[in-house]
Amino acid sequence: MNAASAGWHGGRRMGIANRHTQKRAITSVCPADLDAIGLRLQRRFCAQQEGSIVTIQVDDAGWGDPIGGVFIGMFRVETNEYLVREIEVSYFQPPAFVQKTFLTRGLEIALEGLRCLNVPKDEPIEVCRGIVLDGVREGLTRRGYKVTPTKIEGRLQELVEASLVEALGNRGIPNLPSVSGKDRFFRQLEWVQKDLPGRERFAKTGWKNWSTTLRHWHPRWRQKDSEPIAPPVIIKLGGSVITDKTRPSTPRLDTIELLVREIASVKSQPIIVVHGGGSFGHFLAQQYELPRGGRSTIKKLGVTETVSEMTKLGQLVLAAFHRASCPAIPIRSSSVILALAGRISHMDLEALRVYLRQGFIPILSGDVVADTVTGFTIVSGDQIVMYLARQLHASKVIFATDVDGLYTDDPKRNPAARHIPLLTPATMNQVLGEGSVGEAANAADVTQGMRGKLTEIFKGLPENCEAIICDLRKPETLTRLIAGKNVPCTRLRLTAGD
Ligand code: ADP
Repeated sequence: MNAASAGWHGGRRMGIANRHTQKRAITSVCPADLDAIGLRLQRRFCAQQEGSIVTIQVDDAGWGDPIGGVFIGMFRVETNEYLVREIEVSYFQPPAFVQKTFLTRGLEIALEGLRCLNVPKDEPIEVCRGIVLDGVREGLTRRGYKVTPTKIEGRLQELVEASLVEALGNRGIPNLPSVSGKDRFFRQLEWVQKDLPGRERFAKTGWKNWSTTLRHWHPRWRQKDSEPIAPPVIIKLGGSVITDKTRPSTPRLDTIELLVREIASVKSQPIIVVHGGGSFGHFLAQQYELPRGGRSTIKKLGVTETVSEMTKLGQLVLAAFHRASCPAIPIRSSSVILALAGRISHMDLEALRVYLRQGFIPILSGDVVADTVTGFTIVSGDQIVMYLARQLHASKVIFATDVDGLYTDDPKRNPAARHIPLLTPATMNQVLGEGSVGEAANAADVTQGMRGKLTEIFKGLPENCEAIICDLRKPETLTRLIAGKNVPCTRLRLTAGD
C-alpha cells in the first residue's frame, strides 16, 4: 500500500475531527512547498537512492492546545515525504481521556503511516518523547521497528505545527501562531468563550482543569504585568440593594447572587467592585458614632465590631463570585486606605493593580479606616469608588442601587416623583436645592444616602468618565450599559453634551 491508495495525500482535507467524522478522518497535508506532485517527485527521487539509509521521524502537535485533537506527523527526512493525521478530539474528552485510549489510537495512526510510507523494519524511526506518543514508541518497538526516542526539531516540527494551525484555521480560529505558547492557547479559549454551548464540543474537555477553570476563561486573565491596565469599570453594589437596610446585618442573598452573576458575565473589561455596608455597617457605625472618630475603648471596640460585621458581608459577596467561577479578591479598605478628617488621603493600590492585571476582580467596601486627624473614620463605598475612578482612569462608574436612578423625590415615598435621566453639576444644585434627595426610607445611613452619593460623585468625577445610577437587578442591564446601550438609569456627567 502506498500513501495515495490510503488517502493520505488526497488533497487538503484538513479539519478537526469530531465524533461524527473520526472514522473517515484520514487526511494529508501537503504544506506550501510540499504539494501532492512534490510528494510524488520526492518518492521517485527516493527510489533512485535505493540502498541508502533513510530515517523516519514522528512528531506530534496540539497536546497543549485546548481545541481540537492532537496531530501526528511522519516525515522521511531524506525525501521530504510527509504524512499527518489527527487523533480526534473525542480521545481528549470524557470518558476516553482518562482511559488514555489516545495512546492506542496514536499507535494505529503511526502503523498506518508506516505502511503508507513503506517503512521496512530496519529503517530507523525517531519518535518524539511527548506523552501522546508513548504508545507509538512502545508499540513500534514491540513490533520490531528500530525506534529511538528523541527531541524532534526542525522541518517536521514546523510541518506538523503548520498542519495543526491550518486545521484550527479551518475550524474558525485563523492566523494562529505556528509556535505553541500562551498566545495560541488563549486565542483558542477566547474562541470557545464566544459560543461556549456551540464550540465546547471541539475542546479537550477531558483536561482536569477544563471544567474548573478553562471553560470559564476570561480575556481579563490574559493581561501581562508589564501591560498598562485598561480603564476599568467600577461597580458599586449599594448597601440598599445587597442588604435590607432597615434590619441590622440582614443580607439579600438572592440579590447578591444575581448581581454577581451579571458581573461575572462581563467579558470585555477589567472590573472593580466596591460594595456598601448596608445594614452590616451603618447601624453599628451610627450607634458608636464612628464617622467622628474617637479615642475611647468603647469606640474602638465599636470599630472592631463594625469591621467584623463588614467582613461577614464581604465574605458573602466573595463566596458568590466563587460560585460564579469568577476570580475575585478582597482588598480590605481598613488596611489600604488612610484618611484625613474623613476624606481619603492615600490608598495603596499596588496589590490591587497586580490583581487587576491578572484578571481578578478586586472587591472593596465602605469601611472603617485609619484617620490621621480623628484616629479613625468611616469612608463610604461611594467615596472609594470616586477615588479609584480618578486614580485608575475608570471609563465608567456604575452605582447599582434599588431604584433605577435619581428622581425628583424619593420614588419609594412619593409615587409622583419624576425620573431624571441626565444630571450635570448645574442641574444637581437645583435638585439638591429643592431638598428632594434624601436617604433610603427607614434606613440608618451614616454617609447620607442618595444625597451623599450625588455629592461624592460630582466631587470626584474625572473628565471622560461617566457615572451611572441604576438598578442592576434587571437581567442584562449591566451588559447593556457596558455595551453603551440604553437602559433606565440616571447618567451623571460634567457637561450635558455627549
Ligand atoms: P446604596 O446604599 O444603594 O448606595 P442609598 O441607600 O444611599 O444607596 O441610596 C439609595 C436610596 O435613596 C434609595 O433606596 C431611595 O429610596 C433613596 N432616595 C432618596 N431620595 C431619592 C431620590 N430623589 N431619587 C432616588 N432615590 C432616592
